[in-house]
Amino acid sequence: MKTEKLAKAYRVDSKHFRLKDFDPADTGHWHSKENAEEALQQGIARMAELQDKLYAQDRWALLLIFQAMDAAGKDGIIKHVMSGVNPQGCQVYSFKAPSDLELQHDFLWRTTRDLPERGHIGIFNRSYYEEVLVVRVHPEILASQKTPPSLVGKKIWDERFEDIRTFERHMSRSGTVIRKFFLNVSKKEQKQRFLARLEEPEKNWKFSASDIHERQCWDNYQEAYEDMIRNTATGHAPWYVVPADNKWFTRLVVSCVILDTLESLDLSYPKVDDAKRRELAAAKKLLLKK
Ligand code: ATP
Ligand code: MG
Repeated sequence: MKTEKLAKAYRVDSKHFRLKDFDPADTGHWHSKENAEEALQQGIARMAELQDKLYAQDRWALLLIFQAMDAAGKDGIIKHVMSGVNPQGCQVYSFKAPSDLELQHDFLWRTTRDLPERGHIGIFNRSYYEEVLVVRVHPEILASQKTPPSLVGKKIWDERFEDIRTFERHMSRSGTVIRKFFLNVSKKEQKQRFLARLEEPEKNWKFSASDIHERQCWDNYQEAYEDMIRNTATGHAPWYVVPADNKWFTRLVVSCVILDTLESLDLSYPKVDDAKRRELAAAKKLLLKK
């Protein structure tokens, strides 16, 4: 699988980004779900090997951030793409509306507590990016936060972007590799998925009335996403704008990005030095004696 190429095609790491240049229904050169599924399974197997080394080496951490409109498939991606990795080295956190305690702190506080340890893969299902998305689209949420009013001015979004960029640079300098995914679903496809949630009994539980309400703010969200990506896509913490109208392709692209990232870290099992070798030999001798 040409993981590198597929990963690169959807990578954004500069200010020159326009959402309309990215087609949610794109499937690259892939035309069949079956071929993609086979490549995905191979990718997942390789990912498991690399995760084992990441864990053993205990130097790097990998943070994967997922943002999207409702029904774009965040949950499914996390379930499928991470299906082969060892749960012991992987943590998933979902961020909903902040609690009273969380609102007592700065906007990065709650996510900072859940950052992955060295050797681990951390997955954020939504993240501090909600602070420049839902909070921007609904000004009343910003008003209900407890930031001193004199600090909430016209430049609030630029200030938040700057804080996020600085935070991510700090994390990457400490050994946390950050990859961010915007699952780019079309308004038309979202409608189909909502209808399925309403019509198919086994999907009813996924439906929430607020999803329809957020859909009415579609254009505002698209603008907020575009501005967010422009301002926070960097070389060390790029965004991937992943086509999300075809779930099989979304999964393939995300797995390629993760694989490509792990491959780039040059992971290896810790080297055994002479002292350790002697210790192992002595242990073996003892074990064989009895
Ligand atoms: P799913 O619907 O697939 O179960 P979800 O991530 O949409 O998953 P929900 O419980 O439906 O989960 O929604 C969580 C809600 O919390 C979203 O509408 C999101 O915008 C909101 N949210 C997350 N972070 C913040 C924040 N910092 N401030 C305000 N609202 C937030
Ligand atoms: Mg939801």
